[in-house]
Amino acid sequence: MIDLRSDTVTRPTPGMLAAMVAAPVGDDVLGDDPTVNRLQEQAADLFGVEQALFCPSGTMTNQIAINVHTRPGDEVICHSQAHIYVYEGGGIMANSGASVRLVGSPDGLVEAAEVAAAINPDDPHAARTRLVALENTNNRCGGTCLEFSSIEAIRDVTRQHKLGLHLDGARLFNALAVTDRTPRDYGATFDSISICLSKGLGCPVGSLLLGSGDFMHEARRVRKRFGGGWRQAGLLAAAGIYALENHVERLLEDHAKARSLGNCLAEQSWVERVAPVQTNIVVFTLADPALETALINGLLDKGIRLISMGQGKLRMVAHLDVSMQEIERACDIMSAITL
Ligand SMILES: *Cc1c(COP(=O)(O)O)cnc(C)c1O
Repeated sequence: MIDLRSDTVTRPTPGMLAAMVAAPVGDDVLGDDPTVNRLQEQAADLFGVEQALFCPSGTMTNQIAINVHTRPGDEVICHSQAHIYVYEGGGIMANSGASVRLVGSPDGLVEAAEVAAAINPDDPHAARTRLVALENTNNRCGGTCLEFSSIEAIRDVTRQHKLGLHLDGARLFNALAVTDRTPRDYGATFDSISICLSKGLGCPVGSLLLGSGDFMHEARRVRKRFGGGWRQAGLLAAAGIYALENHVERLLEDHAKARSLGNCLAEQSWVERVAPVQTNIVVFTLADPALETALINGLLDKGIRLISMGQGKLRMVAHLDVSMQEIERACDIMSAITL
């Protein structure tokens, strides 16, 4: 089976498993898991921020951050296709009692002027705008990257209006791989950053929230309240350390595989459009959306799995557990399929 549904389907490599088994552990709720502490210190240093907090999922790190930034009745500005809005179970509203203002273009970009225009006036009729959340790379828009100059312009707007600025950086390392910006540039620009270890970096479980000591003091409390305080999590943190040391540079291989998939899809008569492939995600639309189920089942019969994103969009993601040869085989199968 060539599983292209997501970069979350990877299994730990032998090297990662060996690191997990060898990890010294302790009770992380009590603060004494040495491997968790090491991962958090290493990540904080990499991003040049005061602290990092290891959590079970990227949904949790995002939802904790939103909860720390906002009070009930506040409003969050984000892209209309943002994971925090589309894929987190209504958590912004359910967990934090905040409302949402949607901005952004279909290719995943957000400009400072539209953020500024979406900020409510200081008027008792209006929800209090409190937080701007960006996503890089943007998942639903095909793994597209934000320009750092746009991020800086948005940062100016949030400073001027005293708003928080959060980054859903589930795949930030994929974005970093294709720009000359560093983790520290991001650490210096955002008030909070969520990164996933369980996506392209290949860990079985885990995400990190990054920010100032004051922010993380609150975040630790919210993590416990959300049920995310965990015990001998060093087994999983060891996978995270291994991934940061061994799986970052190889992300460019995934990007090459995704480009190859994108080029192949662009040649198929049943494909209407392939979104520009910038990183490891390929999003495409079908010429005849009614054929979606037939395509998914037809490819499944031949050993290829992909995922529907709704609204006629389909997604394939390149990752650690799929080789270039398998991508070539997938392309041969897709070229031969009849719908
Ligand atoms: C995967 C993902 C997350 C977090 O998802 P979890 O499955 O909860 O770890 C957050 N944001 C984006 C953009 C993602 O793709």
